[in-house]
Amino acid sequence: MTESSSRNWLLARPAVDEDQARDIAARAFAISGEPREVGSQQDRNFVIRDGHRGILLKFDNASTSDAERDLQTLVSERLRAANVPTPRILDPADCLLPRIDVPGQHDAPETITARAFEWIDGAPLSDDAELSGTVAEQLGRLAGRSVSGLSGLTHPASERAIQWELGRAAEVVEQLLGSLPEERRDPCRDAARRAETAVRRVAAQLPRQVIHGDLTSDNVLRDATGELWVVDLGDATMSWRVAELAIAAADVLGRTEDLSMVARVVRGYAQETPLTDPELVALWPLIVLRGAVLAVSGWSQLEIDPGNAYARARIEHEWQVFEAGLGIDPATAQAHLRIAAGLPHREGLEYAPILEGAIAELDLGVESPLLDRGAWLEPDIETRLVRALLDTEPTDRPRVAAIAPFGQARLSRTSGDVSAPGASRARCVELWAAAGTELHAPFAGTLRHDGDAIELSDRGVILRFAGAAPSVAAAEVRTGEVFATTGDTSVRITRRVAGSRPDANFVHFDGEYESSGALDPSLLLGVIAVPDPEIALRDERVRREAAMGGASERYYAEPPRIERGWGALLIETRGRAYLDMVNNVTAIGHSHPRLADDVARQLNLLNTNSRFLYGLYADFTNRLLEHSPDPALDVVIPVSSGSEANDLAIHLAQVATGRTTIVAAREGYHGWTMASDAVSTSAFDNPNALGTRPDWVDIVSAPNAYRGRYRGAEAASGYVSELREHLVALQASGRAAAAFICEPVLGNAGGVVPPSGYLAGAYAEIRAAGGLAIADEVQVGYGRLGRAFWGSQLDGAIPDIITVAKAAGNAFPLGAVITKRSILDALREDGMFFSSAGGAPASMAAGLAVLDVIRDEGLQRNALMVGEHLIERLSVLSKRHELIGAVHGAGLYLGIELVLDRTDLTPAVRETREVCERLLGHGIIMQATSERQNVLKVKPPMTLTIEQADAFVAALDTVLNDIQIANVAI
Ligand code: PMP
Repeated sequence: MTESSSRNWLLARPAVDEDQARDIAARAFAISGEPREVGSQQDRNFVIRDGHRGILLKFDNASTSDAERDLQTLVSERLRAANVPTPRILDPADCLLPRIDVPGQHDAPETITARAFEWIDGAPLSDDAELSGTVAEQLGRLAGRSVSGLSGLTHPASERAIQWELGRAAEVVEQLLGSLPEERRDPCRDAARRAETAVRRVAAQLPRQVIHGDLTSDNVLRDATGELWVVDLGDATMSWRVAELAIAAADVLGRTEDLSMVARVVRGYAQETPLTDPELVALWPLIVLRGAVLAVSGWSQLEIDPGNAYARARIEHEWQVFEAGLGIDPATAQAHLRIAAGLPHREGLEYAPILEGAIAELDLGVESPLLDRGAWLEPDIETRLVRALLDTEPTDRPRVAAIAPFGQARLSRTSGDVSAPGASRARCVELWAAAGTELHAPFAGTLRHDGDAIELSDRGVILRFAGAAPSVAAAEVRTGEVFATTGDTSVRITRRVAGSRPDANFVHFDGEYESSGALDPSLLLGVIAVPDPEIALRDERVRREAAMGGASERYYAEPPRIERGWGALLIETRGRAYLDMVNNVTAIGHSHPRLADDVARQLNLLNTNSRFLYGLYADFTNRLLEHSPDPALDVVIPVSSGSEANDLAIHLAQVATGRTTIVAAREGYHGWTMASDAVSTSAFDNPNALGTRPDWVDIVSAPNAYRGRYRGAEAASGYVSELREHLVALQASGRAAAAFICEPVLGNAGGVVPPSGYLAGAYAEIRAAGGLAIADEVQVGYGRLGRAFWGSQLDGAIPDIITVAKAAGNAFPLGAVITKRSILDALREDGMFFSSAGGAPASMAAGLAVLDVIRDEGLQRNALMVGEHLIERLSVLSKRHELIGAVHGAGLYLGIELVLDRTDLTPAVRETREVCERLLGHGIIMQATSERQNVLKVKPPMTLTIEQADAFVAALDTVLNDIQIANVAI
């Protein structure tokens, strides 16, 4: 190596200051803001933000050529095309990259070029408190996609000499070794030489291509949606393809010092790009070489740029990367990494089947149909299913065993008691066979007995069979030889790295899938492995954001992925059940078998638009009319949603009265269609609500006697008088009201029950003014309030039009309007009504099933009983927790209002959000409501049991205590 090229490898950041950055950003990229420097080894980077826009302004090191910049642009485009998100490189205003002169090394002036990249608001994966196996696998997947995206790319600049290119590693280490502290030099040189020799043996067989060259947890950012972004394309270079993987793997090794984590990186990579035998020979030595290069470079960088805090902070980590590699036996590493890549642990090896006969796979996962209808809660469900599977008529070969896969989040082990979640995730392959079934060694190896387990090992790969009895005395077995027999229990089979301890066979729902030596044995046993549910969860989040963007509402910052429900429980894919305390849509509970059967049966028979004649239409409408609060309300029109029901209700009132004005109570939500939205004024759903009402909408105060305009004993008459004044004024101005609409219990305002006498009074006023009363019972109707089927009945009031949805179909799209024949007749004169899916046979079947279940299971009674129990328990809680200002509502529609001060009622907004987030950790799904977002909405399925109610109260108690303790920290 020549002097000049060696100097080229040691580069200080260009001497650009913030004023220059500010100036260039404004001039060339039309963005003005305060520059903030972010770390870099050899370039100078600033973030500049201006409102929603932001750029990363990069001043390249003077040694970066235009050709290299061109290469980076190409790489950037290729990566994006290969589904590796990377920030776009932005075009400067005049298409010419801005350049400035600054003092360089030894004060000689140098010309620096600036580029702007799209700014990604995210944090590097290296900021995670602990690097998880999931992240390791995601990093590997990005590396695999990166090389597949960059394959075939040619560019002159990719051939330049850079110190990070692993083909030069040994050379770089020799040259920079002197910068290391004395005692570190020898181990570093020796390890690098050994690794170099190993790589050289297969070098000619290693595919070469352009790679990113620095794909590490520092250079992958996670944004708010969970999307991962690859940044820093400055080290893109021609190299061995497998070097991309080695670089990512070395980073993970340094951060975790755990070979099983490195294996996760390899596993992720191999899902995208297959690894060849020579690549797997070179992989571990390349990881070691990367560690050595990092170690020497870190120290030498500090020598030339002592003020570089970024480089200083990294040198110990870089030494760690190197040392972690030295502590692991290369043959062991290679064996496990081969398995992670989907290859047998030795080249050319073929695993023998461990049993004679067929093995049936048993799906015990969250979505397994075997566990439908609550079967997952049966205590001995696994045994029953195994027996059923083994007793099934044999097909071509007798089924001798059943296995359940490694990594599966087992629903059969998920606890229905949310306060005690089970260890549901399998870290073993579990095998069931008749006692005495012979087990064959999948590979030749050494046997060791350890309590009730037998271990077979070869090349640092240990396969452990817990629950099997040895059948040979010898210490060595050949491939295929019988070495053990099964006993009365299942056999749990695990793999681990020699030197690590056996782990638990089942871990808690959020436990790590693979870590500290617990590795997937599936490949060695010839059975399928289950993809990591944690990764699938993250992918799903990104997929949903991409589909709907930010406009679609979603619960939680870090949402679990819910794929099953049962009663009041929701189950996420990592194998945990949550108590669903917010879902008034699913009034009769999740996955009710009656509903599932009736709808499935109808779908098998007929489902069509409602213009045909079929029996279910009248069956449902008549059945709903049995609940009509008054004989005068004698017709039903089925629709598909609450919004549509309210839209139709408004339309009906307008045609029946020949007027247009609708008076609505403040802070309501009635839907998203044009008319239902027009009467919705909840500032949470629509921050500009009051300023944007169309002229046919008139708003009166929400009848909230707790914190509204009128409180205490006079509240009802105060609010009724206000309505009367509005009606009179409207009449006087020639805009007489067609109707008054409100929720009979103010659901969206937090379950607030209007003061007694209000509804009856309000309905009398609107009728006296020649208008109609519309009750939006979408949330509170259908028996949920316990004391009555309809919210308006709590106050003895009877509206002219009732709208329902949500509970009506138990989340099947069904709504309805109940009204008087005379009102409906007015519509006929105005034109007929038709809504394609409204009233369709399957919706009618759903609607009937819901009403039947509410009746047959006594759910209204249950709502009353459990609701009163809850109110009692919550009132006890409110004596201990000052934060609870009030408990609103009735039955199973409650609102727990949190306030900072019980006198001035300051809403405890942050605390409410915090309570919801923390309750999730306790297995409770809870959300905030009201336009102040300070009310916990309690509206679970009406099947909620006393025990479940108690579990909720206990969790709330704990969380409120914790919050009080942590109050300053929130
Ligand atoms: N009315 C009320 C009181 C509601 O809470 C909602 C939905 N949150 C609607 C109407 C609209 O119902 P949908 O979402 O079915 O259109």
